[in-house]
Amino acid sequence: MKKKYFATALIIISIQTAIAGYLDGFHADKVSNHVYVIHGPLELPNESNEGFMNNPAFIVTENGVVVIDPGSSVHTGNMLLREIRKVTDMPVIAVFDTHIHGDHWLGNDAIQRSYPDADIYAHNKTISMINSGEGQSWLDLMHDMTKGATDGTKIVNAKDALKGGEDLSIGGHQFQIIHHGQAHTVTDIMILYKQDNVLFTGDNVTNKRIIRMVDASFKGSIETIEKAKSLQAAIIVPGHGKTGGSELLDKYHAYLSILYNNVSKYFDEDMSDFEMKPLIHPELSDYHDWSGYEDELGKHISGAYLEIEAAAF
Ligand SMILES: [Zn+2]
Repeated sequence: MKKKYFATALIIISIQTAIAGYLDGFHADKVSNHVYVIHGPLELPNESNEGFMNNPAFIVTENGVVVIDPGSSVHTGNMLLREIRKVTDMPVIAVFDTHIHGDHWLGNDAIQRSYPDADIYAHNKTISMINSGEGQSWLDLMHDMTKGATDGTKIVNAKDALKGGEDLSIGGHQFQIIHHGQAHTVTDIMILYKQDNVLFTGDNVTNKRIIRMVDASFKGSIETIEKAKSLQAAIIVPGHGKTGGSELLDKYHAYLSILYNNVSKYFDEDMSDFEMKPLIHPELSDYHDWSGYEDELGKHISGAYLEIEAAAF
């Protein structure tokens, strides 16, 4: 009997947890006068984190709210709207999607349902790739990784195409768009919010998280971070991990540079990628505790190796 009571109590507790919901536990951090960021978890999308892993952010302008990367599902988008409403009653007037990866833009759905007039901006290659099947692939991948926790999400693509170099005035505030060819992907934009001198890097920069680089150029990523450094932003909002200052740019630049330069050196010595790995691992001791390091190091070395090999011909 006792056992049965215990089991019933457990069921009640787990139902309550389900009702409370994982996404209820997150809150927006104010990082400058007008900018708020919900710092997501560092783990890959899974059933218990409901696919949430990025940094959805919002900016309160004179006439409305500008959103950056509303997250991996309609549910993360709704969480973002909940946090916006704690700060202002103004509508969302614009959204920026930093790149093609679905953990950043699938939350567009929630924004469009509540604010159908909001302009949604992304690099023109993000828009064309979502239209030509990548959008569905990301929706399916999120469903699989989270065992259906992201279900209910519909693909809402950006309509306002960017190519980099634009200076936009939105809600009376200024936004500069930066694109430097292939970096984390071929679709990346960084957004410099001039009012508060805040740079949103997308996944060109991360903090305490080593990310997948299957769509990346290592050389292009290093150059993009050098471009980011030249902008001299006071505050850096990375694609994953906590917001900080320019030290975030230096730290991630160093990871990519140590990796790329060592692969290049050992490539010249005719070493294979798996022979290099034990030699490069100790060089990256500052990053051994970063989430994803163990899973990604071998893949990053192989990726950089192929890139260096292709450049050698
Ligand atoms: Zn990404």
